[in-house]
Amino acid sequence: MKTVQDLDLTYVCTGCGTCEVVCPANAIKIKTKEGQYFPEIDMGKCIHCSRCIHICPGREENNRTSLKTCFPNSIYDKSIGYYQATYIGYSIDKEIRFKAASGGITTTVLLYLLENQWIDGAIVTKQDPKNPLKNLSFVARTKEDILESVGSKYSPTHTVSAIKEIKDKPGQYAFVGLPCQIRAIRKLQEKYSWVKEKIVLTIGLFCSRGVTYKGTEFVVDKFARGTRKIKSIKYRGDGWPGGCRISYANKKYTIAHKDYWDPYFANYFFTPYRCLVCGDLFSEGADISLGDAWLPEIKKKDSIGTSIIISRSKIAEEILLKLKEENILHLNICPKKAVIISQKGIIKRKINALYARRILFKLLRRPVPKEDKDNKDSYAVKDFIMAAMMLFNAAFSKSRLGQKILLRVPKDVLLKYRNILHKL
Ligand SMILES: Cc1cc2nc3c(=O)[nH]c(=O)nc-3n(C[C@H](O)[C@H](O)[C@H](O)COP(=O)(O)OP(=O)(O)OC[C@H]3O[C@@H](n4cnc5c(N)ncnc54)[C@H](O)[C@@H]3O)c2cc1C
Ligand code: SF4
Ligand code: SF4
Ligand code: SF4
Repeated sequence: MKTVQDLDLTYVCTGCGTCEVVCPANAIKIKTKEGQYFPEIDMGKCIHCSRCIHICPGREENNRTSLKTCFPNSIYDKSIGYYQATYIGYSIDKEIRFKAASGGITTTVLLYLLENQWIDGAIVTKQDPKNPLKNLSFVARTKEDILESVGSKYSPTHTVSAIKEIKDKPGQYAFVGLPCQIRAIRKLQEKYSWVKEKIVLTIGLFCSRGVTYKGTEFVVDKFARGTRKIKSIKYRGDGWPGGCRISYANKKYTIAHKDYWDPYFANYFFTPYRCLVCGDLFSEGADISLGDAWLPEIKKKDSIGTSIIISRSKIAEEILLKLKEENILHLNICPKKAVIISQKGIIKRKINALYARRILFKLLRRPVPKEDKDNKDSYAVKDFIMAAMMLFNAAFSKSRLGQKILLRVPKDVLLKYRNILHKL
C-alpha cells in the first residue's frame, strides 16, 4: 500500500494539507522543507490505508469534469470555468478596502456572514504570531480574527490542515484559499460528508503562482535588515497595489510592489516547481473567485483597490446581491472579456504555455499532474523558451549561489530579463 511519501513531492505536492486531514492514524504532519510545506509521515503510526495518496489533489492538474456537480445551473466557459455572473467592485468600508489586497471583498463578505450568523467561522490565513516570517491558517470566529487575516500572503500556506479543527465542532464555515486548496476542499466534500456539511461557502483567490519562504527571506535580506528580530511582514495592502511592509521594533521598511514583485517573483524566481504545472488560475472550484482588477482604466485611477469577482454558484449570487442591495459592497457587472483582459499576461504564461511546460517536465523525467482534458494541447516554440526560462529561474533561486547572485544583480537588468520572458 502506498502513501504520499511515495510521490515525488517536490514536483507533485502543493503543500495543501489534505493528506494530514484524512489520515486516520494521525501519522502525517505538514512541515517546512526548503521553504515549502510538505507532508512527513511517522511510519511507526502509519496503518497503510493509502487514504492520503488517493485523496491527494496535487496529482491532478485541474479536474473540471468533477466540478459540474458543484455548479449544476451555471454557465461553462473554457477560460474562466463555471459561472453565474462576473463583477467588478469593492467594499464600501474604506478602511477594509485600503488594508485589503485588492477591493476588500473577501474580508467584507466574511464579516457580514459572521455578524449575521450565516456562518460560525471562517478558515483563513494570517501571519503566525509566533513567527512573523511564516503564515498560520486558522478558524476565525470573531470580527477581530477575520480582520487579522486581511491581505494576500505571497508565501506558502497549508490552509486545508486547519479544517481538522472543525471536524468535531458544531457549525457551518466558510473557507478562503488558493485554487489548489479549493480543489482539495471539493475533493474532500465529494468523499467526506462532514466536510460537505460544515464548509458551506468557498472563496478562492486567483493565483498566478506561489512563492516559497526562501522568497520572503530574500526580500527581507535585500530590502530590509534581515530576518533576525523581524516583527511583522505584510505583502500587500495600505492602498493598491500597495507594497510590502517589513517592521522591526524601531524601524519600518516599505517596498513598492513593482520593486519586489516585478524583478523577482514576476521572473519566477522562488516559484515552487509544482506551481509551474498548475492549470487553475481562476480558482475554478470556488463559489466566489476573486482577483485584482488589473485593467488599464483601473490602474490609471485607483489607488485604494478594486477586485474582479466571479460568482459561480447560487449561494454566491445570493450573498453578493444581498450585500450590494444593502450597500455593503459596490458591485457592477463586468463583461467576461474584461475579466480575461485583467489577467491577460498571466493567462498567456500560466494557461496557454502550460502544455509546453508539461512536455519539458516529461522530457526531464519529472512527474506531471494528471492532465485536464479541456486544457490547450498545442504549443508554440516561444512557449518552450518561456518554459525553460521559468524552470531555470525557479531552480536557480533555490540554490544558495543563485540567491547570492540575485542579491547583486541590478534591478534594471532583472526587469529587462522579465520583459523578455513576459513578451514571448
Ligand atoms: C499567492 C497568491 C497569488 C495571487 N495571484 C493573483 C493573480 O495572479 N492575479 C490576481 O488578480 N490576483 C491574484 N491573487 C489574489 C489577490 O492578491 C487578492 O487576494 C484577491 O484579489 C482578494 O482580494 P481581497 O481584497 O478581496 O482580499 P482580502 O479582503 O485582503 O482578504 C484576503 C484573504 O485571502 C486569504 N489569503 C491571503 N493569502 C493567502 C494564501 N497565501 N493562501 C491562502 N489564503 C490566503 C486571507 O485569509 C484573507 O481571507 C493572488 C493571491 C495570492 C495569495
Ligand atoms: S498535495 Fe496536499 S494532499 Fe498531496 S501530498 Fe501534498 S500536502 Fe498532501
Ligand atoms: S497510508 Fe493511511 S495511515 Fe498511512 S500516512 Fe497515509 S493516510 Fe495515514
Ligand atoms: S500556482 Fe497557486 S494554485 Fe497552483 S499550485 Fe501553486 S499556489 Fe497552488
